[in-house]
Formats: sequence, structure tokens, C-alpha cells
Amino acid sequence: MLSFLLAQTTTEDSDVFQGVRDFFDSQTWDVIKNVVLFFAIAFWLATAYWVYKDARRRIDDPWLIAIAVALGIFPPFLGPIIYLFFRPPEYLDDIRERELEIKAMEDSIGRKERCPVCRATIDEGYLACPICTTKLKDSCRRCHRSLEPLWQICPYCETPVDAPRAVESGNH
Ligand SMILES: [Zn+2]
Ligand SMILES: [Zn+2]
Repeated sequence: MLSFLLAQTTTEDSDVFQGVRDFFDSQTWDVIKNVVLFFAIAFWLATAYWVYKDARRRIDDPWLIAIAVALGIFPPFLGPIIYLFFRPPEYLDDIRERELEIKAMEDSIGRKERCPVCRATIDEGYLACPICTTKLKDSCRRCHRSLEPLWQICPYCETPVDAPRAVESGNH
């Protein structure tokens, strides 16, 4: 009885194993294996390519890009994750854009004057603000060019600058 049961189990076991072995030997398994392998390789190449594209947008140095791509290829799948930890946080385009913005801002601060009343941009030679008509500078009484407040003589035609009107009117 026992031996019979044992024999039975063994037979069943071997049947199951035989079935499993048949399955793994079958063409279906080959196809599944190939499909899985194909997708694994495709995904591996896609991640490596993604690392290449991302590194090019973030890194300036071609050697560092090459190292990043090598890391993207090997170790497969793990390399791109390691790359994610160490990649530069900003895109090169963003850095360049920010630098340009800062430069433009510095330029505008350095060069452009503004009306003290309405903050409109004004040119160095303006005598009055064109927007709010505030008087900005006096003009030379001979050549009519604009004069800086501290100037005592017109640098263009050597005409002495008038004394400030408040003092003048006080004298009269
Ligand atoms: Zn103004
Ligand atoms: Zn003048």
C-alpha cells in the first residue's frame, strides 16, 4: 500500500516535472524567452539613449558626456539610476538664459536712467520727461544741449552755466 502510494506520488511528481520540462523545452517557452529578452535589450538601449540625450542638455564637457553615456550602458538599468543621482540639476539652456537675463538687467541698470517721477526710461540728453513732462535738466543757453546739474560751464560751447534760478531770484 505504502509502496503503491509512494510509486503513485513519484509518478505524479515526475509527471509534473515532465510537464514543466516539456513546457520549458517547448517552442512557446522559446518565443516567450526571446520576447522578454528583446524587450529587456530594447529597454536597456532606450535608457542608455535617454542618458545620452539628457547628459547633452545638462553637461558641456564632451568627456563627462561620454562617461555619463558609459554609465547609462553599464551596468544596465542601474547605471541610468546612478546617473540620475549625479547629473547637474539644471539644463545648459536655462543657465545660459539666466546669465543673459542677468546681463541684460545689469546693462539696463548701468545705462538706462529713469524719470524720478514716473519711472519712464529716459535718455541721457533729455531735458524733460516725455511722459510726465517733469523737467529733468537745464539746457545750455547758447547751444541748448542738456547740462548735468554739477556742471559750471557748458562742455560743448564753453558758455558759463547760469546760476541756479532760486539764488538768482533771491538776488533780484
Ligand atoms: Zn516722467
Ligand atoms: Zn553750450
